[in-house]
Amino acid sequence: MPPKSKKAKSPKPASSHFETDAIHAGHGFASETGAVIAPIYATSTFEYGNPGGFDYTRSGNPNFRNLDATLAKLEKAAFCTSFASGVSAITAVVSTLRSGDVVHAEENIYGCTFRLFAQVFAKFGVGIEYYDFTKPENFARIAREKPALVWIESPTNPLLKVIDIAAVAEVTRASGVPLLVDNTFASSYLQKPIELGADLSLLSTTKYTNGHSDALGGAVCTHSAEWQQKMIFAQKALGLQPSPFDAWLTLRGAKTEAVRMERHCENALAFARHLEAKPGVKFVRYPFLPSHPQYDIARKQMRGGSGMVTADLGFDLDRTQRFLSLLQYFPKAESLGGIESLCCHPASMTHASVPVETRLKVGITDGLVRFSVGIEHIEDLLADLDQAWKGIR
Ligand SMILES: *Cc1c(COP(=O)(O)O)cnc(C)c1O
Repeated sequence: MPPKSKKAKSPKPASSHFETDAIHAGHGFASETGAVIAPIYATSTFEYGNPGGFDYTRSGNPNFRNLDATLAKLEKAAFCTSFASGVSAITAVVSTLRSGDVVHAEENIYGCTFRLFAQVFAKFGVGIEYYDFTKPENFARIAREKPALVWIESPTNPLLKVIDIAAVAEVTRASGVPLLVDNTFASSYLQKPIELGADLSLLSTTKYTNGHSDALGGAVCTHSAEWQQKMIFAQKALGLQPSPFDAWLTLRGAKTEAVRMERHCENALAFARHLEAKPGVKFVRYPFLPSHPQYDIARKQMRGGSGMVTADLGFDLDRTQRFLSLLQYFPKAESLGGIESLCCHPASMTHASVPVETRLKVGITDGLVRFSVGIEHIEDLLADLDQAWKGIR
């Protein structure tokens, strides 16, 4: 005989630990079955008047409400809204601006963000000005010009510049300008933009949050109820919502974020040190290498250096490409943040469409390579690096 059904359980107690919240925060919406993991609610619509307040999946579904509750906790934010991709999350934020508004952005911003502003939002009259946010003398522009929004990323792609988020937030707060931080490269586990003073923390959950390279997703976290209303509106009005299945996969991934990030950090630091010791290498950038230009800021605002390593191998185009093709555990692919290692050659991949002079100006030389260091055994990754290095001699 099955035991008598119990009353609906009270919510789980709040924890202050990332590892516990990642697994227990959020609702299950499964009190009638006792399922330990919430099922996938593959439904487009809901019966009118249900206690959860659901009506139509474009404006809310248990799978993304679960994900939202968990990510808000992990980012130490009051609210979170999830989207179909990082680019959808970016679109949601920019859709709140008006014609004539100007955004101030870090000049080394993510390529797809750059393209969206240049080729889509410009048509709607939203302007953008780029400058170097590692130079505090540039912050005076924020107070003077009062942009509609300040948009930074830290660490940046692909050069892994680290921006002092608290220092930027101090200026934006004083000027009454909202600050958005794209937290994708750092991850929620290693960096908390909201605690550092940002108004919005944006994630491409495709990367470290999900961590398994099997779904796309995005999220915007905030403390502001007003911004949250705007994000919920954008989600339903622009049709930017994730699919229930992708939200379910992303939440499953988020449950192991802490463990994965610890290993990503450990492996990437060892990998960066190993690469730095190779003769002829021009530079290796990793936020937790003492040679990093913003090492002190990285130590101050990040709990670990994350899993990305960028290096200028000092090779010409042909040699760089041969080196990358000799690697066994680093397939050449865009994206990052998955359990598997990947490599990327910006000059011929992500930045191939950027004019040569422009890409050289921002430091993207023919010998520049970016590694997403996975969670494989470090000895295998270092041995792979060594054999490819020998192979091109
Ligand atoms: C990948 C990425 C995005 C875009 O996210 P998608 O999920 O690919 O749409 C935005 N910002 C950064 C820093 C990224 O790495």
